[in-house]
Amino acid sequence: MGMVKKRRYQMETPDEPLEVIIRGSDVLNEPLLNKGTAFTEEERKELGLQGLVPPKVVDIEEQVIRVLENYQRKTDPLEKFIFLTSLHDRNETLYYKVLTENLMEMTPIVYTPVVGAACQQFGHIYRKNRGMYISAKDKGQIRNIFDNWNQDEIDIIVISDGSRILGLGDLGANGMGIPIGKLALYVAGGGVYPCKTLPILLDTGTNNEELLADPLYLGLNQHRIDDDEYYEIVDEFVNAVQDRWPKALIQWEDFTNDHAFPILNKYREKVLCFNDDIQGTGAVALSGLLGGMRMKQEKLSEQRIIFYGAGSAAVGIADMIVAGIVEESGMSEADARKLFWFIDSQGLVVKNGPRPLQDHKVAYARDEPLIDNLLDVIKAVKPTILVGVSGQGQTFTQEIVKEMMNYSKQPIIFALSNPTSKSECTAQEAYKWTKGKAIFASGSPFDPVRMKGKIFVPGQGNNMFIFPGVGLGASLCQATKVTDAMFYRAAKTLAEMVTEEELSLRTVYPDLRKIRKISQTIAVAICEMAFDEGLARIERPEDIKAFVKENMFQPVYPRYVAASE
Ligand code: NAD
Repeated sequence: MGMVKKRRYQMETPDEPLEVIIRGSDVLNEPLLNKGTAFTEEERKELGLQGLVPPKVVDIEEQVIRVLENYQRKTDPLEKFIFLTSLHDRNETLYYKVLTENLMEMTPIVYTPVVGAACQQFGHIYRKNRGMYISAKDKGQIRNIFDNWNQDEIDIIVISDGSRILGLGDLGANGMGIPIGKLALYVAGGGVYPCKTLPILLDTGTNNEELLADPLYLGLNQHRIDDDEYYEIVDEFVNAVQDRWPKALIQWEDFTNDHAFPILNKYREKVLCFNDDIQGTGAVALSGLLGGMRMKQEKLSEQRIIFYGAGSAAVGIADMIVAGIVEESGMSEADARKLFWFIDSQGLVVKNGPRPLQDHKVAYARDEPLIDNLLDVIKAVKPTILVGVSGQGQTFTQEIVKEMMNYSKQPIIFALSNPTSKSECTAQEAYKWTKGKAIFASGSPFDPVRMKGKIFVPGQGNNMFIFPGVGLGASLCQATKVTDAMFYRAAKTLAEMVTEEELSLRTVYPDLRKIRKISQTIAVAICEMAFDEGLARIERPEDIKAFVKENMFQPVYPRYVAASE
C-alpha cells in the first residue's frame, strides 16, 4: 500500500511514531495522513513539507476553531454537507475530531436527513472519489478490482445498491452517500478506525427515469438488471470480499425489501454480515420496548403488539422482539409470534387475504378475518403496544391514541416513520391525548414536551445507538457471524444504560451524547458473547473491556517520522 512502513496510519500507541514512506505533497494529499498546518517543524523537515504549508505550526484545537468558523458561515444544510465532505476528503483526523465533538449538531448533516438531499444531488455536487463502485459491468472482475483498494485490512464494509435510499426510493449510484455517511458514524460513534472502513456502491442500474435522463448522473445508464443476474453479482461480491478481506463485516444498507430479506437470509449464517434496516432497527426498537417494560414493570411476553406497516423495519423489529421474548420467558418462537398483529396497506395481514403474501410477512399472518382499518384492529386485538412503521404520517389520530388507553394504563406508542412529516403522530399529540400516560418514542427527533408543569422527553429510536457498537464488537473479536441473540444482547445493554432519571422523564433511550460509551459497552457485550459461544476468531483477551477500549480510534494526530528506506 506504500504510504507507511510497518504499521497502519492511525495512532495505536501514541508514543511510537509512524514511519511514513511518501513525501511532500503526496502526504498532504492523503487524507488519512494529512495534518495540514499541524505538521511539526521536525515532520516538515523529515517529510519534505517545508514551504508547502504556512509557517505557523498550529495544534488541532486551533484547526477545529477555523473549521467551525467556516462551517457556521454556511447557512444552507447542503452546503454544510459539502463543506464537511471536503474536510473529510482533506484531513480525516480533523474531520473526525470535529464530528465527534459536535455529533448532535452534525449527525443530521452527515447522515439523515441532509444526506438524503445530498444523495439526490450526488451527480451535481460530486467532488472527489471515496469508496468503491462495483457495477453490473464488472461481473467476473470484482476480485481483481478489489486489488485496486490500497488497504489490506478492512474491518467494516457498508454496501448499498441504491435501490431504497432512506424514504427517497431508487437513487441508483447516487446512493453512495449512504455507505459513506454510515461509516462516518461508525468512526465517530463507534471508534472504528477510518482506514479500516470501506463504503461500496453496487451499481446494478436504476429504474429512476429522472436520473437516467440527467446528463450529470454518474451511475450506469441502464435499468436495473433482472434478479438472476442480480443475485449472481451479489454472490460474486461476497466471495470476493471473503478472499480479499476475510475478516471484514459486511453491512447491507438500503436495499429494497424484495432483495434485503433474501440476501440477509442467504449469507447471515455463512459470513460476517447484517442488515441495519432490518436487524439494527429491530434491536433499537426492542431496546425502547425493554425501556418501556422497565418503566411499567411488566414483561414483553405479557404484551399484545400491533404493527402499523409490515415492511422490513416492521418484520425486523418483530423478529427481534420474538428473540427477546424467547430469551426472557422461554416461550417458543411460534407462541411468541402469536402476540403480534401486522397491518399493511391492505389491512390486517391474514393467511387467507385477497392477495398472496410477501414471504417476509408469512410468519406473522393471522388466521383471522381481514379487517381493513387500524381502529377496528385495535378494538379487536386490545393491544398494549402500537408501533408505527408505515411511512404514513398522521395516521395515529386522536381517536386511535385514545382507544389505546382502554387496554393499558400506560400504552406504548412508537411512531417510528421518518422523516418527521411521516411520523404517525407527534410526541405532543401522544402525551396530550393520553394525559401524559403514553410511553412514546419516534424515529425522527421531537423536542421535549411541557404539560401541566411536567417535562416529557420523547426517546428517538435512532439506529446509531446499536450498529456502531455491534459492528465494532463483532469486528474486533473477528466473529464468524452476527446472530440475532447478539442484537438482543445489544438491545438489552442499551436499555440498561437508561438512567432512573431518564426513565422518570419517560425517556426509553439514553442520551445520544454518550454514544462512544454506549458503543464501547455494546461492543464489550458482543465480544463476550462471541467468545462464550465460540464464534470469535481470535484468542480471548484477559480483559475484554480494556481490549475494546484500546482498539477504539481517537481523533488525535500521530507523530510521523520518515521511513529510513
Ligand atoms: P417499507 O416500505 O419496507 O414498509 C412500509 C410498510 O408500510 C409496508 O408494509 C406497507 O404495506 C405499509 N403501508 C404503506 N401504506 C400503509 C397504510 N396506508 N396503512 C398501513 N400500512 C401501510 O419501509 P420500511 O423500511 O419498513 O420503513 C418504514 C418506515 O419506518 C419508514 O418511514 C422509515 O423511515 C421508518 N424506519 C424507522 C427506523 C427507526 O426509527 N430507527 C428504522 C428504519 C425505518
